[in-house]
Amino acid sequence: MKLALIAHDGKKADMVAFVMKRMDFFKRKEVSLVGTGTTGTMIKHAGLEVQLVASGPMGGDAEIGAMVTRGEIDGVIFFRDPLDAHPHEPDVQMLMRICDVHNIPLATNPSCARLILKGLHSN
Ligand code: PGA
Repeated sequence: MKLALIAHDGKKADMVAFVMKRMDFFKRKEVSLVGTGTTGTMIKHAGLEVQLVASGPMGGDAEIGAMVTRGEIDGVIFFRDPLDAHPHEPDVQMLMRICDVHNIPLATNPSCARLILKGLHSN
């Protein structure tokens, strides 16, 4: 099971807290992670193996979108900051659209991410 982790700057602390609270799940050997540059590096520092792609504004969201398109991703956790503007908003929209095109679970906040993990856990 491969999960993509992305967080805008205002949500990175939430992402690290979310992952650390569920370390047992994220450390399972059947779970692998890919993350955008800064988010992924922070999660690495928290002690997990993470495949890194480019930083979001440099095309990382687009890279993850391509991975979703190729069927390589089972779920995307993308903590967006709705109170800030982002230069790469078109990429953000593209990634969300691609998840819908391919029917891939996409969580944009911690409550939804918790439910997705619960669902993946029980499958
Ligand atoms: P980052 O990218 O993890 O490299 O900051 C995330 C984003 O802003 O989409």
